[in-house]
Amino acid sequence: MIAAVLEAPGRMDLREVEDPKCPPGGLLLKVEASSICGTDVKMYERGQRDLVCPRILGHEISGVVFERDGRGPKVGERVQIYPGVYCGRCPSCRKKAENLCERIRIIGFNLDGGFAEYLLVPKESVDNGSVNLIPDGVEFEEAALAEPLACCINSQELAGVGDGDSVLIFGAGPAGLLHAMLARLRGASMVAVAETLDHRVRIARSSADLVVDPMRDNLYDLMMDLTAGRGFDVIILASRDVPVDSELFSLLTPRGRISLFSGLPPNLASARLDLNRLHYREHMVVGSYGCNPAQNREALELIAGRIDVRRLITERVYLREIMRGMEHTGERRGLKAVVTDFG
Ligand SMILES: [Zn+2]
Ligand SMILES: [Zn+2]
Repeated sequence: MIAAVLEAPGRMDLREVEDPKCPPGGLLLKVEASSICGTDVKMYERGQRDLVCPRILGHEISGVVFERDGRGPKVGERVQIYPGVYCGRCPSCRKKAENLCERIRIIGFNLDGGFAEYLLVPKESVDNGSVNLIPDGVEFEEAALAEPLACCINSQELAGVGDGDSVLIFGAGPAGLLHAMLARLRGASMVAVAETLDHRVRIARSSADLVVDPMRDNLYDLMMDLTAGRGFDVIILASRDVPVDSELFSLLTPRGRISLFSGLPPNLASARLDLNRLHYREHMVVGSYGCNPAQNREALELIAGRIDVRRLITERVYLREIMRGMEHTGERRGLKAVVTDFG
């Protein structure tokens, strides 16, 4: 079959690889849609903690069951894949934080992923409920976005986004916009988005109460006006270029939470904080990385009903022109690029 193989950071080859065989107890999936994530671009440009090369990337995957051995969905059924392959027994798994499993392997990171005609889905994924039937009426390309939406659910659960919260999101890329839609659904009373790119500002306006350009506007004054001087209950960093500093904390209300949704570049990865400010105002900082399988299932249900992800898809590419999709994502030209044709 044809696959896009990351040989090493900086080098992706489109080449013929051996067809995967249906593993014992597992599935062989005919891939129908694989969306490109900012993390794929990061892995291509710089590598990533969980990446092992050579590797077929792609962790936002949907397709049709082509072959199966044992249980699980039948041949011909439409499914979306939760990419974590976890043990189910370690302390993290028992706490339903399967994304932090001690023995986790991740499809598209250290197992081959969806930028290929076929995907091997291991037995554990079938047994653990990581293969989700796509609801009727949901297209493959929409179902592929269940994984990134699930990552937003994880972040908002950890940051406790709920009824009446005011939420400020940095970044109106695909993740920032999913966060905005989700925060509303979870009962946020006000959603503001900070974004510098014009085309993203325009799209964000339909999902947020206010979109500001932090390069042009005085963010602090605007945000304080918007919250009647109280600050925000939750700030979500869905952008890699926001310093976590006292200025950011000054935008938080007492008991406010900051979610570190995006991984930060080395120059922003360390911070000096006034910890007494956190102490007196009961501020919280929460990390989030990936999602658990239950959140993935919830995301797929939301896509079938209350969250329209179609408007986030701004580019569709053939597998053989995957670099165009990677550039679309890396250069932040539009929003989401999806590989939808594998011929
Ligand atoms: Zn991703
Ligand atoms: Zn585990």
